Amino acid sequence: MTGGGTDVLVVGGGPAGVALGAECAARGLRVRLVAPHPPRPFPATYGAWLDEVPAPARPALAQVWSDVRVYTGAGATPLVRPYALFDNARLLEGLLTRAGGSLCWTRGRVTGAERVGEGWAVRGAGGETWRAAVVVDAGGHGGGLAAPVRPGGAALQTAYGLVARFERPPGPPGGMVWMDYRAGHLPSAEVRAAPTFLYTMHLGGDRYLVEETSLIARPGLSRSLLRERLRARLAAQGTPPQEVEHVEWVAFPMNAAAPRPGPWLAFGSAAGLVHPVSGFQVAGALADAPVVAGAVADTLATCGPAAAARAGWEALWPPQRRAAREVALLGVDALLGLPGDALPDFFSAFFRLPAAQWHSFLAPRTEAGALARTMLRLFAHVPNRVRFPLARAALGQPGASGRALLSALD
Ligand SMILES: Cc1cc2nc3c(=O)[nH]c(=O)nc-3n(C[C@H](O)[C@H](O)[C@H](O)COP(=O)(O)OP(=O)(O)OC[C@H]3O[C@@H](n4cnc5c(N)ncnc54)[C@H](O)[C@@H]3O)c2cc1C
Repeated sequence: MTGGGTDVLVVGGGPAGVALGAECAARGLRVRLVAPHPPRPFPATYGAWLDEVPAPARPALAQVWSDVRVYTGAGATPLVRPYALFDNARLLEGLLTRAGGSLCWTRGRVTGAERVGEGWAVRGAGGETWRAAVVVDAGGHGGGLAAPVRPGGAALQTAYGLVARFERPPGPPGGMVWMDYRAGHLPSAEVRAAPTFLYTMHLGGDRYLVEETSLIARPGLSRSLLRERLRARLAAQGTPPQEVEHVEWVAFPMNAAAPRPGPWLAFGSAAGLVHPVSGFQVAGALADAPVVAGAVADTLATCGPAAAARAGWEALWPPQRRAAREVALLGVDALLGLPGDALPDFFSAFFRLPAAQWHSFLAPRTEAGALARTMLRLFAHVPNRVRFPLARAALGQPGASGRALLSALD
């Protein structure tokens, strides 16, 4: 089957692909979105800081917590920053409504794309060919067409979670715990080798989401280790789950470099847009989509397909954002280089920074200089047992990352 030509072909039906496809369609472009599945609510649990969720997406929030805490020692640190959970069915519905009739969802798996004249012939695994002026790769962490470059190999965030009913609350009723690093129930050597924390959301009544999470590790922690850690933690707290409704396995890479401009436009996690320290991406993709779609639509009309893909890349990766990514990758190296039992002290200092500083450190578009200044301030405030490994991680970078920090401070 050969599909009729469209202005834009989006590979992937995750939140990034649908958001960008919808924004292109809303600007009058004809969009084909190709995904192996029909439109269906995104399967993962997506959380975000409320202040980072763009206003048009807020009706798609299932729940917002104002009691948001971290535990880096015995006592709770209140974060005083509301945190939100997406209702993925409503998020999808809102995006498809925004697209109107100009987005055609096609089931298929893209296997490649070749230039034909000014545009593209995109191949499907079932022998299909779809013509399009601009191709967007929103195929997720592995990319639909090409995977992002990850210096030193992929460093993974992994988590094993349950949505379950509990007789005794495993976290604060009415609240959410962003990070609970308390680990008195584990031998210290295990914590040092493989630090994990609990992420908890009270979903109402006796329902909670509990996820034992490894922030970042290379290689990533295994599902069986995290499942056992979660079981042991809940047992130690005296809060075993009763009825399990859903199991969630989380595993995705955190350390992509900014992509170079290419023949097609990568977006979402296929563009490495997952935040290298928090792992967040969804709110950022929702905010980026109108900006990128605007650049593509304006340029396609006046300068043609190649210039439109390039304009989309420039809108997504202005020089400041590329520089910031290099600085953030230094943060990744530092986290990977810290002994696991130093992480609670690291985050204790992090959350004692002025709120504006730690907020912007975790934000998707913070410029490199601000990131670098926050890192230096943090460096000055952590205890020595954290400072020395941090310094080793920073100075141990032979090339790009260390230089990135210095030039960001110029
Ligand atoms: C369980 C889990 C929980 C997470 N929690 C959060 C969170 O709380 N907050 C947050 O911001 N981020 C979270 N993340 C990070 C997450 O990866 C991203 O935020 C988000 O899913 C990425 O969106 P995406 O659209 O880029 O890719 P994906 O959601 O991975 O979607 C990729 C799409 O491309 C399709 N596809 C792949 N290859 C092809 C192909 N060759 N042809 C056609 N289609 C193809 C897939 O079928 C899918 O439709 C979580 C990730 C996981 C796995």
